[in-house]
Amino acid sequence: MYFPSWLSQLYRGLSRPIRRTTQPIWGSLYRSLLQSSQRRIPEFSSFVVRTNTCGELRSSHLGQEVTLCGWIQYRRQNTFLVLRDFDGLVQVIIPQDESAASVKKILCEAPVESVVQVSGTVISRPAGQENPKMPTGEIEIKVKTAELLNACKKLPFEIKNFVKKTEALRLQYRYLDLRSFQMQYNLRLRSQMVMKMREYLCNLHGFVDIETPTLFKRTPGGAKEFLVPSREPGKFYSLPQSPQQFKQLLMVGGLDRYFQVARCYRDEGSRPDRQPEFTQIDIEMSFVDQTGIQSLIEGLLQYSWPNDKDPVVVPFPTMTFAEVLATYGTDKPDTRFGMKIIDISDVFRNTEIGFLQDALSKPHGTVKAICIPEGAEILPVFLNANRNWNSPVANFIMESQRLELIRLMETQEEDVVLLTAGEHNKACSLLGKLRLECADLLETRGVVLRDPTLFSFLWVVDFPLFLPKEENPRELESAHHPFTAPHPSDIHLLYTEPKKARSQHYDLVLNGNEIGGGSIRIHNAELQRYILATLLKEDVKMLSHLLQALDYGAPPHGGIALGLDRLICLVTGSPSIRDVIAFPKSFRGHDLMSNTPDSVPPEELKPYHIRVSKPTDSKAERAH
Ligand code: ASP
Repeated sequence: MYFPSWLSQLYRGLSRPIRRTTQPIWGSLYRSLLQSSQRRIPEFSSFVVRTNTCGELRSSHLGQEVTLCGWIQYRRQNTFLVLRDFDGLVQVIIPQDESAASVKKILCEAPVESVVQVSGTVISRPAGQENPKMPTGEIEIKVKTAELLNACKKLPFEIKNFVKKTEALRLQYRYLDLRSFQMQYNLRLRSQMVMKMREYLCNLHGFVDIETPTLFKRTPGGAKEFLVPSREPGKFYSLPQSPQQFKQLLMVGGLDRYFQVARCYRDEGSRPDRQPEFTQIDIEMSFVDQTGIQSLIEGLLQYSWPNDKDPVVVPFPTMTFAEVLATYGTDKPDTRFGMKIIDISDVFRNTEIGFLQDALSKPHGTVKAICIPEGAEILPVFLNANRNWNSPVANFIMESQRLELIRLMETQEEDVVLLTAGEHNKACSLLGKLRLECADLLETRGVVLRDPTLFSFLWVVDFPLFLPKEENPRELESAHHPFTAPHPSDIHLLYTEPKKARSQHYDLVLNGNEIGGGSIRIHNAELQRYILATLLKEDVKMLSHLLQALDYGAPPHGGIALGLDRLICLVTGSPSIRDVIAFPKSFRGHDLMSNTPDSVPPEELKPYHIRVSKPTDSKAERAH
């Protein structure tokens, strides 16, 4: 087999099996994370003045001379202090004898959160004074020398986990917030998962990590992009919403397995739990079909999943778009619990209840319902113990309908049934929203519906290729993006009933969140031009480079992007994606620490031929 030597050299050594070292039980979060990831424990104290980390020391270190650097977490009665670094806490005994007066002075006077360096001996704590809650609780440090590296002013908030602070304050002093164990854990877990993803993709499966430009041009369709002015009058770059075009062009260029930890930008205004800049694990492959991409992602998540969580079970279940909508009323269902939507139209075909009759007489008219187990916790009870119904419509329901409904809905005592009538999609999406709201309500009343340790993945496939445009429903827009290939059995529909065409688009859903999406792409220039120009009414000139490239022997290809921030947020159980990003923007898109975006003096705008016209006061008010 022909295998160029530079290539074999590049990969030799990179693909060696990962060494596993056995380590004692680590106490701190990060060490257990490292241990669980089956990788070699890194050397945390190489190249620096410390000999050990604070959280690392155990009885096995007794008698060792150590140098530690850390922040003063707290001090008690000028007799000892607790020193903290990313790895944990350790108790340091402040010497009381005259000869060590200068050391005592430094350690007693340094304010909390000052950063200090201490050297001394690891000794065991006096019998009865061990702290089993602290991983280093069997030992303490008998200090010989101490140096104040930098003092800390009065803090805007305490670093301790249990001290509540507003998010605005945390974001304003992000560098202090990052000192918390939770932020340390989140960012280090993120780094580890990304490392393992790289390992899986590059070393085990031959992917190539390629950076693509962030100064680019506008992509028609899809999210709004940020503009960057150029020095040419009236000309702008756009920050890409994803490397979509580049990754497809890389396939044309024969780099047939690409990935990138890609920064993406979307100017979508303020939306809770979205970020104007975010990170995707961006992937593209040539000569692949949908199942190939799905298997790759299942393997990638299984490989990179932290071992302190339940293992990822593959393959993930798959449902079609039509199925998820009919069952859960959304294309990103939380499948950790039931409460599925049931079509009960047949029960009411001969009903005398006006609004049901009305709905069923219309095209696509349906009657749908969900059963909320133990719903009596949150709503007036529907089915009493004496099997009477508590509902205004109960009198109009015949006994046979009643029995059929109980059978279909599998209703138990204390359950509540919510019923709606109307057009299929609308009825489903309404019940889908109620399903989630009821789940939230039930959980606030102590009913456990969603196991917080459960990770429920689901592939959603067979999306429609197009959706009606929100602002003008007679026009079409891509359900994913305009480069998505139609379903092979629906190609003819593009020329007759494009609205009915399904696509080769797939989404990955985790616990009710879309964590990834991708598609098999159109690699035929003519089809791509037809979809862009004729069906989507886009200006094809904007994409002439891509259309041209497709004509030069573009291979069949497809890909996917995983939303890294959301994924890590779910893995760490964080309340917000801002908790897994080192320097996030506020939900209004501001960096509260540096006050960004900021104004620029007019002379700095001159080279860009830009002048700012400030909105009038009333307009500015409306904008807020
Ligand atoms: N570029 C797409 C996105 O950002 C993902 C893909 O189709 O690969 O959603």
